[in-house]
Amino acid sequence: MSLKQLLMIPGPTPVPDDVLRALSQPMINHRGPEYIALQNSVVAGLQTAFQTEFPVQIYPASGTGGLEAAVVNSLSPGDGVVACPVGAFGDRFAEIAETMGASVHRVATPWGEPVTCEALTAALAERPETRAVLLTHNETSTGVLNDIEALAAAARSVLPEVLILVDAISGMLAADLQPDAWGLDVVVAGSQKAWMLPPGLTFLGISPRAWEANAKARMPRFYFDFKRMAKSMATGQTPYTPAVSLIYGLEVALGRILGEGLPASFLRHERMARATRAAVEALGLRLFARSRHSPALTSVLPPEGLSARDIRSALRKDHGVVVAGGQGPIKDTIFRIGHLGYVSEADLLGTFSALERVLTAAGHPVEPGSGLSALERELAGGATL
Ligand SMILES: *Cc1c(COP(=O)(O)O)cnc(C)c1O
Repeated sequence: MSLKQLLMIPGPTPVPDDVLRALSQPMINHRGPEYIALQNSVVAGLQTAFQTEFPVQIYPASGTGGLEAAVVNSLSPGDGVVACPVGAFGDRFAEIAETMGASVHRVATPWGEPVTCEALTAALAERPETRAVLLTHNETSTGVLNDIEALAAAARSVLPEVLILVDAISGMLAADLQPDAWGLDVVVAGSQKAWMLPPGLTFLGISPRAWEANAKARMPRFYFDFKRMAKSMATGQTPYTPAVSLIYGLEVALGRILGEGLPASFLRHERMARATRAAVEALGLRLFARSRHSPALTSVLPPEGLSARDIRSALRKDHGVVVAGGQGPIKDTIFRIGHLGYVSEADLLGTFSALERVLTAAGHPVEPGSGLSALERELAGGATL
């Protein structure tokens, strides 16, 4: 018999049963009244989840499609862009801007650390022609949460009108992010992270400043054109066939998200993250991120002499627990435990029970229950933000 799987990767994340059932409803006419009512309702819910008063656009695409949409709708070829990659996803964002013809400067930050306001303001002060800054809210490849509020304010202190484009794909709902209050221009989210949905949808929040930029932006675009989308959304539709099943699922997921409330969601993620870090350290393992630890996932360095790949493989084969490896240059250096979206405290307890046994079996003996007791203590402690 194959083992029951516990999916503990930072996306795709587990999907609740009621969302799964919603996905299996029969098709409807995407130009008919039922669909229009459904779309209008989910767009209103997305605005609340995004903490924005402006309509949120939905495209059937993975998160990367959303990043591309943010770039091509805001910029023209040759525009100056300051990218702030702190890991693989930040690199991808910069690469998209480059591919589309922007002139990209990268602020260099070692992986495992957040970008600093000083590094960003120094880069902008030397490049007054910069049109846009690219930021990553939560860098999923390293497990670091950038301070977007401070970085946006720092960028504006140098260039008040600069566009701020934010990859919030794995951070939104796990940590606070306020596009309107913090002056963010395009904010991108993705369905398979904390939203408790399968992959396939990207969501974009767009500020009035981004709309002004959009009118002048000349990068080529068709499918991801904000204007076409806005025009169609005004009638409760999309220009092209929407992913109807995922929209059904989104309606149910939004009910869960808004029912819990954003502050409770941030706190839940923070509590799980703190408990995970405490358990990792109690097992004598080290965290890869050095500061501003992510509330969405935890990146872990294996003990001396053991490989991250072997630990992951044993977790999966012997215990049905699936954790992620690293990405890019740290592919086999770390493993990553996702604790975002529909993940419970019981899931974390199961994961650490399995990890304790895997470590012991692999020759890094740990006292049974030592990680678990640290985990339980933190979970009971009631974290505050
Ligand atoms: C998941 C993720 C993406 C997008 O990945 P897709 O595979 O295209 O959905 C981008 N940025 C971050 C920070 C992510 O976590």
